[in-house]
Amino acid sequence: MSLTTQIHTEDEMLHLDLMGGQVRVMLCETTRMVQDARDIHESTPVCTAAMGRLMTATAMLGVMMKGENESVTVTIKGDGPIGTMVSVADHGDVRVTVDNPLVDLPPREDGKLDVGKAVGLGRMSVVKDLGMREPYIGQCELVSGELGMDFANYFALSEQQPSLVSLGVLVKGDQVIKAGGLLIQPLPGCTEEVIEQLELRSPMFAEISRELEAAPKEELAEGWFRGMEMRLLDRTPLRYRCTCSRQRLEKALLAIGRADLQSIIDDGQGAELGCHFCRKTYFFTTEELKALLASAQA
Ligand SMILES: [Zn+2]
Repeated sequence: MSLTTQIHTEDEMLHLDLMGGQVRVMLCETTRMVQDARDIHESTPVCTAAMGRLMTATAMLGVMMKGENESVTVTIKGDGPIGTMVSVADHGDVRVTVDNPLVDLPPREDGKLDVGKAVGLGRMSVVKDLGMREPYIGQCELVSGELGMDFANYFALSEQQPSLVSLGVLVKGDQVIKAGGLLIQPLPGCTEEVIEQLELRSPMFAEISRELEAAPKEELAEGWFRGMEMRLLDRTPLRYRCTCSRQRLEKALLAIGRADLQSIIDDGQGAELGCHFCRKTYFFTTEELKALLASAQA
């Protein structure tokens, strides 16, 4: 079956395998999702690129989780001016937030956006919420702040899974031209010959956003993995989606503690809470806060 007979132009994750299951491949386009993140956070190009790379990698982790109520949260805590970044994926539904989306930096010498400098060095953590079971928590140091290498390092150290990770966001001002990513993982039993083949081909997928600008992902996959018995296992739509609700923010209000909630009530101004992921604001009147406190005490 040829992949190019069913080209999808919307954001989507392709889950493929090569050589009868010796290699797992996740290939996605995330242009629309990254554009939505840009529009919500009104970010500068370098921050859009950083958020986009993070969301793209988080989407890969999210799509790999099989259970219905499972989700994954990736936190990047670098010492760069962008501050802390958090992305959450419920399967293909992804959201992102960043401390300072307005950080602007001069481009690198090669003309590329300086994501590494904006993010800096520090730590990353991956928390997989496994529904009823204990969460999985993986942590490691950031190795470059460019995020692609950082995720490859995370997979190698925390999941003992060698991986090639390519993340790319092509952005001009407020517009995301193309965004996407590629993950290649040799699985147990993968032969040396197959790994060599992939290494030989790796220059072809180094600049994923440029590649996506030239051709749809289905066509790219067929070209890159020609002769490697590529199979399509699954395709998952991707989108930017926040899961905040009034109910969730009520919980957040209760979490600040009764004394603090009482002092907000005493101020008589009500409370305005904003969601960091979608920038929606929720207003609670003093009366509503009183009722909330009463229900918590009941
Ligand atoms: Zn929200």
